[in-house]
Amino acid sequence: MDKKLDLLKLYLNEIADLRAISGLLEWDQLVMMPEGAVTDRGEQIAALEKLTHQKATADEIGKLLDALAGELVDLEADTDAARLVKAARRQYDKLVKVPADYVAEFARVSSEAQSVWETAKKNSDYMSFRPFLQRLIDLRRQYADFFKPWAHVYDPLLDDFEPGMKTADVQAIFNQLRPRQVELIRAIAEKPAIRKDFLYRDFPVDKQEQFGRDVISDLGYDLRHGRLDRSAHPFTSGFGLNDVRITSRYERNYLPTALFASMHECGHALYELGINKEYNRTPLGEAASMAVHESQSRLWENLVGRSWPFWQTYFPRLREHFSSELDDVDARAFYEAVNAVEPSFIRVEADEATYNLHIMLRLELEIALMDGSLDAQDAPAAWNSKFQEYLGITPPDDSKGILQDVHWSFGGFGYFPTYALGNLVSAQLWAVMEDDIPALEEKIRQTRFGEILEWLRVNVHAHGGKYEPQELVRKITGSPISPEPYLRYLEEKYSDIYNL
Ligand code: ZN
Repeated sequence: MDKKLDLLKLYLNEIADLRAISGLLEWDQLVMMPEGAVTDRGEQIAALEKLTHQKATADEIGKLLDALAGELVDLEADTDAARLVKAARRQYDKLVKVPADYVAEFARVSSEAQSVWETAKKNSDYMSFRPFLQRLIDLRRQYADFFKPWAHVYDPLLDDFEPGMKTADVQAIFNQLRPRQVELIRAIAEKPAIRKDFLYRDFPVDKQEQFGRDVISDLGYDLRHGRLDRSAHPFTSGFGLNDVRITSRYERNYLPTALFASMHECGHALYELGINKEYNRTPLGEAASMAVHESQSRLWENLVGRSWPFWQTYFPRLREHFSSELDDVDARAFYEAVNAVEPSFIRVEADEATYNLHIMLRLELEIALMDGSLDAQDAPAAWNSKFQEYLGITPPDDSKGILQDVHWSFGGFGYFPTYALGNLVSAQLWAVMEDDIPALEEKIRQTRFGEILEWLRVNVHAHGGKYEPQELVRKITGSPISPEPYLRYLEEKYSDIYNL
C-alpha cells in the first residue's frame, strides 16, 4: 500500500505544483503585469489549465484511488493516509464528471462575461449583461446536472466551495439569523448616528501602508513567507504552504478601507501558512472550505481588529502616523466610528451588523435564478425590492445594486453564502477561545497575539483539508455551524456602542 500511496502523492504533487504556477501567473497579472500583456497572459493561463485538467483526470489516478480504497479498510479513520485518499477521491470524482467540452465552454463564456460585466457596471447597464448572466445560469444548471441525483439544483454549486454543505442547511441557518439581524438594525436605527466624518480626511497612502504593515507583523504574518502589495481588489494568493501573499487597497480619503482589508487578508494568509507542512502539495494542504477560510479573515479583521481593546492600544500608534489628521479624535470615538452601523448599498463596505443581510439577499436570488422561479429579466427588480425589505433603502441604480459584485460574471454561484457562514464560524471559534485563553482581552490590549495564533494553528490551521468544514467546526466547538454565538457577539457589541 505504501508504494501506491507514494505514487498517488507524486501525481497529486504535480497537480498542486501546476495549480500553484497558474496562481502565480494570476497574482502577477493583478499585481505586477503591464496591462498590454493581458491577451497573452490569458492564453498562458488557459494552456496551463488545460494541462492541469488532463493531469488531474488521468485514468492512473482513478485506478490508484480504487486500489487504495480496497486496502484502506476505513476511509473515515482519522489517519492522514485515509483522509488523503478520501480528499483526492472527492476532487477526482468531481473533475471526471465534467466533460472537457463543458470546461472549455464555461471558461470561454465566463471570461467574456467578465469583461461585459465590467463595462455594464461602469455604465449601470444591466441589460447588456443580462444575456451573459442567462448563459452562465444555463451553464451552471447544466453543471449541476452532471452531479445528479441531488435534493436541490444549488447543492452541487455550493459543494464546490463548502464541501458537504447542503442548500437546506444554509437556508435553515439563515432563517434563524435573518429576523434577529433585522431586529438589531431596527433598534440601532432609532439611536443617534455615530460621528465618523474624521475617517474621510486626507490620509497619505504611504503612511497607511506603513501602519498596516506594522499591524500585520504584530498579528504574526511572517514576511519571509509572504508579501504585502497593492491591487484594485484586495486578495490572498498562496503558492504552496511556504509562500502566501496578500494585497490591500488604499483610499486616500477613507482610512478604514486599507486598514481592515490588510488585517482581513492577513487572516487568510495566516491560515494557509499554518497548515501542516507535511500536507504541502497535496489536497490536505488546502483550506477546509471557503467558510472556514473566511472565518479566519473575519476573526482577525473584526473580532480582533474592530475590538475596543485593540484600539485602546493601536489608536495612539495610529495617531503617531496621522497626528494632525486625528488630533481632535480619541480612541473611543475612533473605535465607535469604525463600528458604526449604517445600511449601505455596497456589500464590501458593509458593517458587521448589516453584512449578512447582503449575503442572504444574494443567496435567495441565486437559488431563485437556479431553480427557475426568477427570470434574469426580473432580477434587478427582485434585488431592489429585497434590499428595501432587509435594509430599508433602495439602490439608486444597478451599478450600486445587482451589478456591484464580480462573482456572477464568472459564474461563481454558490460562493456568497460562505461569507456569512465564515462570520458565524469566527464567533463560534472565538467563544471557545475565550474559554481556553485566560484574559483574552488583556492580551489583545498588550498586542500579545501569539497565543491566539497558536490556538488557531493547533485547532484550525494545521488540519488543512483533512476534515470537511462541518466536521472540523464540530470537532472544535462541539456543534455544527450555527448562528447563536455570532448573534450574541453582535448584540453585546452593539448594545455597548449604541446603548441599546
Ligand atoms: Zn475574505
